[in-house]
Amino acid sequence: MFGRSLPALLALLATACVAPQPPAPPASASVVQAAREVAAPAAEWTANCTDWDEWDKRAAPFRVHGDTYHVGTCGISALLVAGAEGHVLLDTGTRGGARVVLENIRLLGFRPENLAAVLTSHEHFDHVGGAWWVHQNSGAPILTSPQAEQVIKTGQDHPDDPQRGMHTPMRPVPAQYVSAITPGQPVTIAGLTFTPIATPGHTPGALSWQWESCEGTDCKTIVYADSLSPVSADGYRFSDRPNYVAAYRDGLSRLAALDCDILLTPHPSASRMRDKLVAGDLTAAPGCAEYAAAIEERLDRRLAEEAAQ
Ligand SMILES: [Zn+2]
Repeated sequence: MFGRSLPALLALLATACVAPQPPAPPASASVVQAAREVAAPAAEWTANCTDWDEWDKRAAPFRVHGDTYHVGTCGISALLVAGAEGHVLLDTGTRGGARVVLENIRLLGFRPENLAAVLTSHEHFDHVGGAWWVHQNSGAPILTSPQAEQVIKTGQDHPDDPQRGMHTPMRPVPAQYVSAITPGQPVTIAGLTFTPIATPGHTPGALSWQWESCEGTDCKTIVYADSLSPVSADGYRFSDRPNYVAAYRDGLSRLAALDCDILLTPHPSASRMRDKLVAGDLTAAPGCAEYAAAIEERLDRRLAEEAAQ
C-alpha cells in the first residue's frame, strides 16, 4: 500500500517545490520610513565590534544618515541606501559575510528581492566575494567599473592587480547580470543617484561612490571611498609602473576634492568609523581630503622603500 502512495507523495512534493513563489511586495515609502524606527542604535555596533575586527563577524545594522544604513559585518562594510522604488547595496562582504549582510537587510524590514543593484568598491573577495550569493538571493545586477567587470564575471584576479595570485578565486556572477558604469557619470537606480569616482591603485578597477542622503532638510553628502592601500604580492613594484602610479595619484586628487560630509570605507577602521560612532559624529575627521593625503603618504613611503631596495 505504502509503495503505491509514495510516488503520489513524491509527485505532490515535486509540485510543491516548483510552485511559483508569490512576488515580493514592492519597496514603499512606508517600509523605508519604518526602517528608521527599527534600526539598532550605533552603540550596539560599537559594543560588539573592535577596530580591524573579523571579516565575517556579525554586527547590528545601524543608520548612517537619512536612508543610508551600515549593513556590513564588524570587519567589512556594506551599505544599503533605501528608496521607495527599490534599494541599492554597496559591497557584499565575503561569501560568508554576505549572509550577515542579507540578514541585516531583513532585520531592517527590507527584502533582498527589492535590491535594484549592487555597486562595488574594489574587486577583491573581502568586498565582493559575496556578490554571487547576494545576486542568487535577490536577482540584483552588479554594477562595477570597466576594469572590474571581468573579475566579477570570472572570479579571477585582474592581470594588473598588485595582489594578483594572492587570493582564491571568487564564485563568478553570471555575465548577463554584471555591467560596467562609466566613472564620473552619475547613475540613477530606482530613483537613487550615485556618482562613481575612479580611484584605482589598490586594484585597477577600484571605485569610490558619492551620494546624498537627507533627513528632512538635513542633507549630507556621503562618500564611500575605496581602500586605496598600496599593498601587493611579493616582487611587485609600483615604481615599475609609472602609468599605474599616475592614475593612482589622479584618483587621490579626485577623492580629496570631493564634497564629503561623511566618509566611510570598505574596512570601517580605515576611516576610523568606530571612533566616530563612539564620539556620536560620523562627520568627524578624517574626511576625504585627510584620508587621501594619508594614502598618498603611504604611497610615497612605499615608492621610497622600493627605490632603496
Ligand atoms: Zn583589497
